[in-house]
Amino acid sequence: MGATLLTKEAVLNGLAVERLAIMSSLSEERLRRSLPALSWSHPYPPYLPANIPSVYMSAAKAPSGVICRGCTTRRGITADVRAHLALPDIVCLQHRVWQSPAPCDVSAAPEIDRAQHTLRRIRRLHGNRGMSLGVRDARWIIAAWTSNVCRESELTDRWHSRRAVLGLVPWHRSDDLSARIVTHPEVAILAAALAPNYTDPTYFTRTGFQLRRFSAYLRASLDLNPIPHSMNDPIRAFVRIVQSNRARWRDPKSVMITETATPRCT
Ligand SMILES: [Zn+2]
Repeated sequence: MGATLLTKEAVLNGLAVERLAIMSSLSEERLRRSLPALSWSHPYPPYLPANIPSVYMSAAKAPSGVICRGCTTRRGITADVRAHLALPDIVCLQHRVWQSPAPCDVSAAPEIDRAQHTLRRIRRLHGNRGMSLGVRDARWIIAAWTSNVCRESELTDRWHSRRAVLGLVPWHRSDDLSARIVTHPEVAILAAALAPNYTDPTYFTRTGFQLRRFSAYLRASLDLNPIPHSMNDPIRAFVRIVQSNRARWRDPKSVMITETATPRCT
């Protein structure tokens, strides 16, 4: 977890990262784990000289969250403490507070707690990359279900009532932060089912894999009717895309989960 944050972010070229590692007596790998932003920048940013260690300061790209106030006041801290949090750590499980960008009480929806445990399990089993890719693609499927073409009214009703229970304002876009919170439990269930696909390239083409059964099982775990109302089932559409063009879907370049600053490479 990051420490308190500034509004500026430093971009270091490869030589500067090497020097930072020597000065701090920490390995480059450990530095990159503690300062995920180091891994987001290109090793040789075109606007920095390639042959001398250089740093460029810019406005922070990674949004940060205010740490749960229950946790900070218990430690006698009255000021807001900001930190970059990976998605599995974004909810304070003790006080049930979603911490990004400002604390939001989610105690009225215990399924959000369960989703956090699911995400931690995915991260343990499939690494940060598998979890991030799973969440990205789960959100792709969820966004399709909110569209007019393959709307799942059971889900949209469920999200509306969860939104009301949590006291969140109505959403306008599927990538709106409150929509992220409201759809989080379903995202975690889908991400858990998709995650093995990123470590096993044959996962969706293995002998015995049946797309219809996979979709029905996944829909049942979301308490949906196993047979989709519409012919445009985004679960099946997603699997078909991966089967025919998996390189693109395994590309970690687009895995950054922006609102939580989950790093794309670990
Ligand atoms: Zn807390």
